[in-house]
Amino acid sequence: MPKFKSTQDILRIIGNKDQIRNFGVIAHVDHGKTTMSDSLLAASGIISPSVAGQALALDSMKLEQNRQMTIRGANVTLFYETDGKEYVINMIDTPGHIDFTGRVTRALRAIDGVVVVSDSVEGIMTQTETVTRQALEERVRPVLYINKIDRLVKELKLGPEEMQKWLMNIISHFNQLVDIYAEPEVKEKWKVSIQGNSVAFGSAKDRWGFNFKMAKKTGINFKDVYDAYTSNDPALIKSLSERSPLSDAVLGMVVEHHPPPHVAQRYRIPKIWPGDLNSDIGKALLACDEKGPALMMVTTINVDPQAGRVATGRLYSGTIKDGDEVYLIDAKRPGRVQSVNIYMGNTREIVSVLPAGNIPALLGLDYAIAGETISTVKGAQAFESIKYVSEPVVTIA
Ligand code: GDP
Repeated sequence: MPKFKSTQDILRIIGNKDQIRNFGVIAHVDHGKTTMSDSLLAASGIISPSVAGQALALDSMKLEQNRQMTIRGANVTLFYETDGKEYVINMIDTPGHIDFTGRVTRALRAIDGVVVVSDSVEGIMTQTETVTRQALEERVRPVLYINKIDRLVKELKLGPEEMQKWLMNIISHFNQLVDIYAEPEVKEKWKVSIQGNSVAFGSAKDRWGFNFKMAKKTGINFKDVYDAYTSNDPALIKSLSERSPLSDAVLGMVVEHHPPPHVAQRYRIPKIWPGDLNSDIGKALLACDEKGPALMMVTTINVDPQAGRVATGRLYSGTIKDGDEVYLIDAKRPGRVQSVNIYMGNTREIVSVLPAGNIPALLGLDYAIAGETISTVKGAQAFESIKYVSEPVVTIA
């Protein structure tokens, strides 16, 4: 079940940047991105205080429906604890395909790592390659999750040894992509491997998964997987998920290999922000400095029936709080932040103030569109130049 954490707990954890991760999930269509993301939320999503009471009153069916509806939103916040250390992990929605509006690129700017999901039978496909390439070009670090392992047993009839051979081919195919598209300085470090704990195997449908560390700890292996699926015994399959939950396999890799925001920004800002790195903003961005001028990039706009337009994105520097006068750099307009929120699980909670490295959801910026750069400095350099085709219309449903 998702964890209940109070707003204070979350704010305490994210006050330490080492405990934040911002990541996305990319996959070829149908390889299991949605099923995996849903499984992470089901196991590790934080239940916000405002829905904790309500959750008890709802039957599980309704909860399930709520989740399904919102998993494709702007941001889902997960909580993960390992070796006594707590992490707040933002899973930011990354569109699966590249369209002319550059939505993938924009989402990739807000994250520092990706989980690449690949179907075990189909392996690395064209879309896996295109999006992985984009991630590498944006200096976003990948880990690999090979999904639908059940298909290797049920459809390809592979035994434990054969499965491992088959999977090694997928891993080396993936590493060829890293070899081609990653920059020379990170090429070797960013290649994935079983022993390096940057590859996980599992079934999102059945919610089990393991990486090298988990296999060592729990003793789970390919023979257990083979036995479970050849037996066709639902209890055996279920026991895999109890023994080795998928969420641990994936989030374990995320906290180990995806960098926290202040580490990532040092090498990512020169790539994604075209401004002067020696300026005050430039220095603040490189350091993810919460005391510097605020600069945020909006990745998603949601229209909320109650709150109106909600602009969600990554705050790279500074601190943003209720009532701040800001500038919408591309729109060349001033704006006023009415309320600073964060996502807890997939619901929005008011926090009033948030430091750099986080993913604020801002209310009150009626003219913001996705791709907009928001800053406390008038005339700050934008992340990208976006065209306002017409005056944005605010729809209140
Ligand atoms: P997406 O397009 O990448 O978001 O893929 P979905 O999560 O929607 O999954 C595509 C299809 O694959 C759905 O029918 C899922 O039920 C199925 N699927 C997801 N995970 C698994 C798995 O581990 N094993 C099998 N056999 N099917 C799966």
